[in-house]
Amino acid sequence: MADNILEVRGLKKYFNTPHGLLHAVDDLSFNIEKGKTLGVVGESGCGKSTLGRVILRLIDSTEGEVLFEGEDVLKYSKAEMRAMRKSMQIIFQDPYESINPRMSVGELIAEPLIVNKICKGAEMDKKVRELMDTVGLAERMINSYPHELDGGRRQRIGIARALSVSPKFIVCDEPVSALDVSIQAQILNLMQDLQKERGFTYMFITHNLSVVKHISDDIMVMYLGKMVEKAPKSELFKNPMHPYTRALLEAIPSPKLSSRNRKREILQGEIKSPINPKEECRFAGRCKYATEQCHQGVPELREITPGHFVSCFYADK
Ligand code: ADP
Repeated sequence: MADNILEVRGLKKYFNTPHGLLHAVDDLSFNIEKGKTLGVVGESGCGKSTLGRVILRLIDSTEGEVLFEGEDVLKYSKAEMRAMRKSMQIIFQDPYESINPRMSVGELIAEPLIVNKICKGAEMDKKVRELMDTVGLAERMINSYPHELDGGRRQRIGIARALSVSPKFIVCDEPVSALDVSIQAQILNLMQDLQKERGFTYMFITHNLSVVKHISDDIMVMYLGKMVEKAPKSELFKNPMHPYTRALLEAIPSPKLSSRNRKREILQGEIKSPINPKEECRFAGRCKYATEQCHQGVPELREITPGHFVSCFYADK
C-alpha cells in the first residue's frame, strides 16, 4: 500500500465573479505519496495556484476534503491550523512579493522562527546561520537586503524560510519561473538535495513541463480546473494520451535540429476562464480531434493503464 501523506478528495474552489461562477478547481481527487514529488502542470489560469492555496488553507475551499496524514485539514479550527502550518509550507514564485523588503536576510529567516516560537536569542542566531548554509547563502549576506541580491539568492531566502519550521510537505508555486535558466537548475538541484536529505514531499506547480521533468515522480496535467491526465513521470513523457498533454509536450523546445523542423501541434486559440462551464469537455473548443461527443458531456477520468489516468473519450481508441 502506498504511504500517502496527502489525499485530496472531490476538491472544489469556485469564485463568484460579476460574470458568473468561476470553477477554478473543479472536483479534483488525487494522492501524493510521502517523500515524492507531484508535478502540477498547465497553462496560466488552469487553477494550479488556487489548488495549492486551498490545500494550505490560504484561501477557503468550496467543497471537498484534504487529508494530511489522514486528517482533514479543511475541518481544522484556527488553532489546529496554526500547528499544521509548520508541517505544510509554500515557496512562492517571487519571494520578493511575499517578504518585507526592509528586513535583512537574517531577519527574514528569523521571522518564521519567532512567529512560530521555535527558538530565540543565541539559539535562533545559530539556527539562522545553519539555514543560510543549508540553502547555500554565504554567511556574509546576513545583513544584506533582498534588493541587493539576485533572484536566485532571493529564492534561497524563500526556501530557508519554508525550511525553518521543519515542514513535511511543501507546495512549490512556480519557484523557478522568474529565474534565468542556469539559476533555475541550481535551485532545482538544491530542492532535490533537500528532499533526499530530509524526506520532504513536494507539490511542484509550473506552467513549464520541462521544469518538472527531472524533479517529479508523478505528473498531473490540469486544464481549466480539471485534471486531464495523471501518470508516473516517465510514462507521461513516453506515452501522453490527452491531446492537451501532447500539445504541452510539443511546445517544449528541443535542442535537436531534426525535431526543430518537425511540424508542431502547437495549441490553438486562447485559454478561457471556466465561468459557468458547459457540460462538455473543457478542452473541446481547442482540441483538433474534438467530435460531437466531446461537446455533449464531460469525459470522466479513467485509469487506462495502471496508474495512468486520462479524461478524454478517445484516450483508449
Ligand atoms: P494558475 O495558477 O494555473 O495560473 P490560478 O489558480 O491563478 O491559475 O487561477 C485559476 C482561475 O481562477 C483563473 O481564471 C483566475 O482568474 C481565477 N481566480 C484566481 N483567484 C481568483 C479570485 N480571488 N477571484 C476570482 N477569480 C480568481
